[in-house]
Amino acid sequence: MVSPEDFYSEDGIKRILAECRERLQLRAEGKLPEVEQDYQSYLRSSLWRRIKRRVLKRDQRVCGCCGGEGKVVHHRSYAPEVMEGKADDMLATVCAGCHAIMHFDENGAKRSAEETERIFLGGQRQTEIPTPRIDLRRRSQAKPAEWPRMTAVQRKLWEEAKQRMLCERHIAKGHMEYQPILDSLNDPQGSRLARVERVFKVPRIGG
Ligand SMILES: [Zn+2]
Ligand SMILES: [Zn+2]
Repeated sequence: MVSPEDFYSEDGIKRILAECRERLQLRAEGKLPEVEQDYQSYLRSSLWRRIKRRVLKRDQRVCGCCGGEGKVVHHRSYAPEVMEGKADDMLATVCAGCHAIMHFDENGAKRSAEETERIFLGGQRQTEIPTPRIDLRRRSQAKPAEWPRMTAVQRKLWEEAKQRMLCERHIAKGHMEYQPILDSLNDPQGSRLARVERVFKVPRIGG
């Protein structure tokens, strides 16, 4: 098995690549463990696509964990009736960040099903974000290292903070065409941040 530390050493990377190659070979030969093979093909099936669409629609694409936009459908149970689409209450829309937090701990170790369920039911309400790092020479700004484990709400707040900082930097250089964009970001009615703030009552970022 590959461990998170493997990502930080040359030997570790070699182990990861070897395991990937081995698994690709097994898959090509149809020799992946039966359950895994079945689950992979299940996720490609039209039955699952129909169930997923139905659940996303039911939840209006709102993450059941953080309240942000969710595009992932999480299995709270793998019971046959759930897989057959007869128990949609055991399926839940979540965002990618919450899904990562639910299934893996900070060290990348897989959590137990009980722990995953406990985290899902507890919800994620964190709104603190890493400060965006702005580099005006880049066409797009680098995502923070925390990104994979940031909830959809945190990601939205980060995007908005980034937009605001970008505008401020451009304006400081005399590009006044950014002023209206900054104004709209700061408009308490118009900005997405303001809408998130109204829902979650979080303090304004950056004062
Ligand atoms: Zn979420
Ligand atoms: Zn899941």
